[in-house]
Amino acid sequence: EEASEKHEFQAEVSSLMNILVHSLYSEKEVFLRELLSNAADALDKLHYLSLTEPEKVEKGELAIHIDIDTANNRLVIEDNGIGMTRDELSHALGTIAESGTKRFIQSLRDKEVGASANDLIGQFGVGFYSAFLAAHTVTVETVSYTESEASCHTWESVADTGSYTIAHTPDCGIERGTRITLHLRDDAREYATEYRVKMLVGTYSEFLAFPIYLSTDGKPYDRLNTKPVLWRRQPSDITDEEYNQFFKDTVKDSRQQDPLNWMHFTGEGDVTFSSLVYIPSEAPIHIKEEDKAPSLKVYAKRVFIGADMNGLLPQWASFVRGIIDCDDIDLNVSREMVQGSRQVRAIGRKIVFNLLNRLNKMAQAVDAALIGLEEGEEPQDQDFYTFYFHFAKNLKLGVIQDEARRPKLLNLLRYPSTHAPVARDIIDGRSMVSFEDYVARAPEGQKSIYYAAGENLDALRRSPFLERLTALGVEVLFLTDSLDEYVVQNLRMYTDEDGNNWHFSNVAKEAVDLSFLEEAPTHTLPEGLVALVSNYLLDLLENRKVERVAVSQRLTDSAAVVVSPGLALSANQQRIMRSQTM
Ligand code: ADP
Ligand code: MG
Repeated sequence: EEASEKHEFQAEVSSLMNILVHSLYSEKEVFLRELLSNAADALDKLHYLSLTEPEKVEKGELAIHIDIDTANNRLVIEDNGIGMTRDELSHALGTIAESGTKRFIQSLRDKEVGASANDLIGQFGVGFYSAFLAAHTVTVETVSYTESEASCHTWESVADTGSYTIAHTPDCGIERGTRITLHLRDDAREYATEYRVKMLVGTYSEFLAFPIYLSTDGKPYDRLNTKPVLWRRQPSDITDEEYNQFFKDTVKDSRQQDPLNWMHFTGEGDVTFSSLVYIPSEAPIHIKEEDKAPSLKVYAKRVFIGADMNGLLPQWASFVRGIIDCDDIDLNVSREMVQGSRQVRAIGRKIVFNLLNRLNKMAQAVDAALIGLEEGEEPQDQDFYTFYFHFAKNLKLGVIQDEARRPKLLNLLRYPSTHAPVARDIIDGRSMVSFEDYVARAPEGQKSIYYAAGENLDALRRSPFLERLTALGVEVLFLTDSLDEYVVQNLRMYTDEDGNNWHFSNVAKEAVDLSFLEEAPTHTLPEGLVALVSNYLLDLLENRKVERVAVSQRLTDSAAVVVSPGLALSANQQRIMRSQTM
């Protein structure tokens, strides 16, 4: 039997360990994620070999066992993956071979150690050496799948010594795989408690593909990760109940309802990923912003690395809830690759593309369900309007902010109108019109989309501004949301399928042009009389800031209305502004 050999760490390793201990001090818990992800990698490799070289590999149950030894303040993590030979051991745990890792260290060194470096690397992988965040001594016993129990080797290192030892230890009791023992520091005692270990596995590793078993002080093992990794399975093999349950267990926030819909797809090309993204059926009840569940959790090969990263989703799409699991994001060394990166943006684009298509399909499903319905019958599929009731504001925000997706978002907007039946209690497909439908049924020659804006739908329906338009059969949309007028003003025009531009025209403003209906004025007044009445009214309204009084053709029943000049704020906008400054 060979004696224990002592080796110096490669300089980069020492400096990495130094940086870790100083800058990641407050986030030392990441060590468990790193060690579990290494164990899962080793199991993955063995699983692969069992498929390619079944004659050489006796697989058994591939699993990870965690043992807590409270008396000795120790944590043991053991896998039956591929293990390491002596050479592999000293190479893997003594050097940093990857050039990417070297760059990572370099960029960390350039940062000031402290909070900023902490922010940068906190949520990303730092690898095996993070074990020293929690342990003063780390012991690794390992048997390669190419060898037998008799060739077990033990690697051991004490923090801050800059060196490690390797010894041949044939009686280590491992058939195949790797056992890592962390001799925890006094200030890391919490990691030798069942509660803390369960919590960390739940946060970072609940979806690892292999079972994780936990035992405390020799008690029987408990399995920790029992939730299925739904997103890696074939959609055709998953029932709606499973999708609903997964949403409730994993991605929702304060909501209890089943989701409305979901998109389960994989992306290939620029970046490879699986994703499962839900459209919730209700808006969360927000008590505090920090209570909000993340829109999208991001996993790298099933290990949680972060949520709602920069560049992933536009603000308007933040109502979705789901998971992205990316194969191309390396857990180690990847922070600059992740936040706001090309990959993240590419993933985001694919998700938004699918989301808009799905919403569009949902909207079409309502339209289809409406065809052939008898009066009084309710269409079956109203999902789109359930969505709209909760999230219309998100779509409108998108129209304002997201120019690239504007046309698709616009086609999802729906408004009540003079031509749609009055809704009973909640909005539905019959009582709402899209811009598309509006322009399709407008009379020949009409070039504007007419709207009335106000806070109260009933009051709008009774508005004298509608009299003449209604009499002539011109449809008017009712805009009752505080964002609506900003949307139409921001747009100024709607472009229809044939490329025609339609201006938005507020019926409460001057100059509603109805000349396309080719109606001559029904009556004319002598000019002297007009002047007389105008002057009388101007006198009467002396203190009320009326700019001018004019004769118009816009009314049929009412005698007079107050209108705003074309460029001024409408009465509704003034109301909204007043309510915002209060
Ligand atoms: P990475 O996982 O990104 O390669 P780590 O620092 O986490 O970097 O691990 C370094 C190397 O150590 C791994 O690439 C692997 O070769 C080896 N290793 C670590 N843990 C295990 C394990 N449980 N079983 C087998 N090999 C391991
Ligand atoms: Mg690793």
